[in-house]
Amino acid sequence: MSVKTLTPLTTGVDEYNVEKIRKDFPILAQTIHGKPLVYLDNAATAQKPQAVIDSIVEYYTSMNANVHRGVHHLSEVSTKAFEDARIKIKEFINAKSESEVIFTRGTTEAINLVAASYGRAFLKEGDEIILTGMEHHSNLVPWQLIAKEKQLKIKIIPVDDNGELVLDDLENFFTEKTKFAAINYVSNSLGTINDVKKIIDTSHLHSVPVLLDAAQTVNHLEIDVQKLDCDFLAFSGHKLYGPTGIGILYGKKSLLDSMPPYMGGGDMIAKVTYSESTYNELPHKFEAGTSNIADAIALGAAIDYVKQIGLEAIAHHENCLLEYATAELLNLEGLKIIGTAKNKCGVISFVFDTIHPHDVGTFLDFEGIAVRTGHHCTQPLMHRFGIPATTRASFAMYNTKNEVDILINGLKRVIKVFK
Ligand code: PMP
Repeated sequence: MSVKTLTPLTTGVDEYNVEKIRKDFPILAQTIHGKPLVYLDNAATAQKPQAVIDSIVEYYTSMNANVHRGVHHLSEVSTKAFEDARIKIKEFINAKSESEVIFTRGTTEAINLVAASYGRAFLKEGDEIILTGMEHHSNLVPWQLIAKEKQLKIKIIPVDDNGELVLDDLENFFTEKTKFAAINYVSNSLGTINDVKKIIDTSHLHSVPVLLDAAQTVNHLEIDVQKLDCDFLAFSGHKLYGPTGIGILYGKKSLLDSMPPYMGGGDMIAKVTYSESTYNELPHKFEAGTSNIADAIALGAAIDYVKQIGLEAIAHHENCLLEYATAELLNLEGLKIIGTAKNKCGVISFVFDTIHPHDVGTFLDFEGIAVRTGHHCTQPLMHRFGIPATTRASFAMYNTKNEVDILINGLKRVIKVFK
């Protein structure tokens, strides 16, 4: 990666003002072990702006009622706010219709929904599914479950030493038995941005539908599901500055219409008798039971907030931090960056030759620095690189160059202490 200098950033309206943005995130003002918090664990979950916190408080203070089924005022207000949030999400990813936007608990549940519903209905013994070598366990284990049940074969697109997918002979992955592809868009462990457009276009030449795991993408890159032409897309609210426990499955209407329900219960039915039921229309067919109404609305507030700053400006800011951090880390003795793809965002993972990542993480915590250490739910990928774990720093819109310097100084002390 070449190193860009930190240029002034604009949001399109104002100059990008990171100090102003930080004030919107109350948690960042904390001290940890007596030191100012340096939160660099954003790939695990991002912090929440006051607007999102306020949205949750406001919902329970003045709106709380169950949606869709009530005729009373609060139920109508709550239903409107819930469905307005769905429209915001539809616009955010440019889906054709809000009926293609299904609220789930998160990326994990969205992928399980597709694997179980589409998998049980349309995949049969001997069929093949394509995944990549850098899948989060959330986009691997659900496919393993259905593969075991249906006797399917999983094929893995390999990862090269830089942490890029080897796509040269992508064509050769497809046979007449290939029936589905589920692909990571941005790697949570390496930061690699995969060429998903190439995978989607090649898959479609073989009439293979593609699911994108966009858990690490929606907060860094603009997504247009129509331009991408992906068949399904999954993401979690909490990585997009929204609450935990809420996420999205986008699916093309024709596919979602053809799929059986994932869970049965209230709200997903049209008519029920003791012997059988018919199902509600989209998106409700896939939203059995009471939804996470407050957090869906707060996800809408998170999207409003992100739009106000501008994803392009956020991405530019984060990329400058990533490039600066990369250059500084490479100066440290015994440190190796895992994941040196040309196209990266958000994440930098590294190992020391003689210091275990857990020691690094624990030491940094005493300095108030939050990084993640471990396999990042990508054990096969760690195995590919011959390592048990990495230390991962991941950036969000509110991180600063000064915080990168604090990380680097902390790591210098780690080297001194553990060598
Ligand atoms: N996929 C990727 C690439 C992720 O980074 C994560 C979260 N670490 C997930 C899936 C799962 O997301 P969640 O736990 O919010 O369902």
